[in-house]
Amino acid sequence: MTRAVIAFGANLGDREATIAAAVREIAEATGVALVAVSPVYESAAVKDSGVDDDAPRYLNGVIVVETALAPHALLELLQRIELEHGRERTEHWGDRTLDLDLIDVDGIVLDDERLVLPHPRASQRAFVLAPWLDIDPDAELAGHGPIAALRAAATDEVVRR
Ligand code: AMP
Repeated sequence: MTRAVIAFGANLGDREATIAAAVREIAEATGVALVAVSPVYESAAVKDSGVDDDAPRYLNGVIVVETALAPHALLELLQRIELEHGRERTEHWGDRTLDLDLIDVDGIVLDDERLVLPHPRASQRAFVLAPWLDIDPDAELAGHGPIAALRAAATDEVVRR
């Protein structure tokens, strides 16, 4: 069994309902057991060009799971759930009904065409680090150190709901 950290985000539609459904679907998936669910935070949309205050705001959070799935199989599960929730992939970093990112899997470091671990932008994102810190204060991000220090250094603004 491995322990995986999954970040969720939603900025279109009924964000709370989508997130609740996605967390339930992950928890009910074969080979996955839910360990913890973070509080939900709200954040501004981040686009290629930086923060986009005109875009709908995101609800974000993190869950921790124990899983028998290999990292790529877990990513496939997350992508299936994203698709079921009608996520459109027309614009890179575009608005989305549901975004699920694999942040960390037992500190594994890997980089292939489908999966990069730890998630390459997690170390700088308060909307990942703040909720993760709430449920696992001693966590570390492989190659980057304690998430408490990363969270303190992150400059994007997040508001706990
Ligand atoms: P995005 O649209 O930003 O969610 O990116 C999705 C793409 O990133 C997919 O093609 C994934 O295969 C790839 N990807 C690479 N590493 C990760 C990761 N750690 N979590 C989620 N998606 C990833």
